[in-house]
Amino acid sequence: MQITEIYKSIQGESTHAGLPCVFVRLTGCNLRCAWCDSEYTFSGGHRMTPEEVIEEVEHLSPGGLVEITGGEPMLQERELVPVMQRLLDDGYTVLLETSGERPLARVPKGVVKIVDVKCPNSGEGDSFDMENLEALDSGDEVRFVLSDRADYEFARDFVARHGLAHKVNAVLFSPAFSKEAGGARDTSHCLLDPRELAEWMLADHVPARLSLQMHKFIWDPAMKGV
Ligand code: SF4
Repeated sequence: MQITEIYKSIQGESTHAGLPCVFVRLTGCNLRCAWCDSEYTFSGGHRMTPEEVIEEVEHLSPGGLVEITGGEPMLQERELVPVMQRLLDDGYTVLLETSGERPLARVPKGVVKIVDVKCPNSGEGDSFDMENLEALDSGDEVRFVLSDRADYEFARDFVARHGLAHKVNAVLFSPAFSKEAGGARDTSHCLLDPRELAEWMLADHVPARLSLQMHKFIWDPAMKGV
């Protein structure tokens, strides 16, 4: 497997936010979202066997929460699926963070899928694989990263059209964070003001959860490995 980093930190953006978590960050992505904060994963990394990945997770935490992320982890589906199954079998709670562009039907049952639906201003607005709606189950989460009103309206309408609130555990509306926010740790660096977003959500009775990227407020937003 091609791995950028494996580290322990605080889970920052889901219903598991705030919990200690081991992150397995896989190298490579086939999308290029305008506000991507993980461009360092597009290349490089190092080879590890699936066994070495599992050993490193066990070394960092003997149990608890593991998040598989990237990049786009499902580009390495062949090796990744057995790793996720093994972690589940060993008693870990396994989160898979994915762009929604890759098919998710073969993700092992029990893995919590945190699936993005890319909005228009990401530059990847048509990338979501609509067949993935069938792969979602009641433990999963769907996330929209929003940078303006047009993104918000797209997300609001998508949630309503597909009845997402009844399909998954949580729908997350998350303001995008500026890529130029190095050092700063306040909401002025969100591309969409969270207060404005909250007001829109309340006015429209959107059945979604406002989600701020907790790690961006704890550490320097440009920091890796957190
Ligand atoms: S899918 Fe994720 S890693 Fe890939 S470009 Fe978009 S934000 Fe970055």
